[in-house]
Amino acid sequence: MRVVVTGGAGFIGSHLVERLVELGYEVTVLDNLSSGRVENLSRVRGRVELVVGDVKDFETCLRVLRGAEVVYHFAANPEVRVSVTDPEVHFRENVVATFNVAEASRRAGSVRTLVFASSSTVYGDAPRLPTPEDCELRPVSVYGASKAAAELILHSYSHLYGIRVVALRYANVVGPRLRHGVIYDFLMKLSRNPEVLEVLGDGTQRKSYLYVSDAVDATLLAVERASRYFEVFNVGNEDWITVLEIARVVSEVLGLRPRVVLRGGTPDGRGWPGDVKLMLLSIERLKSLGWRPRYSSYEAVRLATRAVAEELNLLKPGTTRGPA
Ligand code: NAD
Repeated sequence: MRVVVTGGAGFIGSHLVERLVELGYEVTVLDNLSSGRVENLSRVRGRVELVVGDVKDFETCLRVLRGAEVVYHFAANPEVRVSVTDPEVHFRENVVATFNVAEASRRAGSVRTLVFASSSTVYGDAPRLPTPEDCELRPVSVYGASKAAAELILHSYSHLYGIRVVALRYANVVGPRLRHGVIYDFLMKLSRNPEVLEVLGDGTQRKSYLYVSDAVDATLLAVERASRYFEVFNVGNEDWITVLEIARVVSEVLGLRPRVVLRGGTPDGRGWPGDVKLMLLSIERLKSLGWRPRYSSYEAVRLATRAVAEELNLLKPGTTRGPA
């Protein structure tokens, strides 16, 4: 079966592509390499087709999607913080891009299932923790709003054109090849100055983290088992971890004892306007299908830190790496 992964040269996308290739799918990656990298696909070189192109270019999108049965739409700008300074980026890269993928799926005629990488940020400051899928969507960042808008566009496409849609609301996904978010940020800061670690906000922000292999397992199970035409799944962990705890883990992995400095942020302790302070998703729906995260938030953060630090040559000799 032929499948397309948009954003397949990125962090989560490339891990998903590897798994799909292992399972025997014929995989085409559509990626403009804005944050993705060709080397992320080095383990499957020669076994996937990489089309370097933009999902916002409709003709390219349609050409690539023709003949595909499943489309995993993972291309996006995943930087929540960009929302504050340049909200249009998320409208373009997440809303317009998703509309293009939906419309190209319809016109291609072959696409039966569209899998969408949504986000926990659609809930905003959720009134219920752990937050179930039926909680109201009140995003507090344009990034979160763009993912919610994209979900709604896809809902109408599933209703009107019979394309099965599986929307996955991921918590923070971490692992090898990660190049954005708090772990990467801390690693870069400590590589520049090992004495001081600047933390945005008051450090008590507490969120759930998921190791990338757990996220890929959940994704494939959801796609296999989703029964309705439009189905949403939270993909997160059962525990959570604070930013200060992450700062400690990253410092420990690097063998450093930096002075932690709280800087910037908002009066109520967020890292930036639009940052969600508390995030813990209810994962009962996915668990009822038989999925369980293998690693806790703490383990995921630790393993991811070690892997990314090794990729960036920041580890002291003798430190061992976690699972890929
Ligand atoms: P990433 O930046 O590593 O991957 C995004 C990929 O999309 C990159 O390869 C990039 O080059 C590509 N891309 C971006 N815009 C494109 C365009 N217009 N046309 C073609 N390709 C384009 O980010 P990631 O962390 O792997 O995120 C993957 C998806 O999962 C995104 O949709 C993101 O919003 C979502 N998500 C990620 C997390 C997380 O914690 N990493 C959490 C929730 C949701």
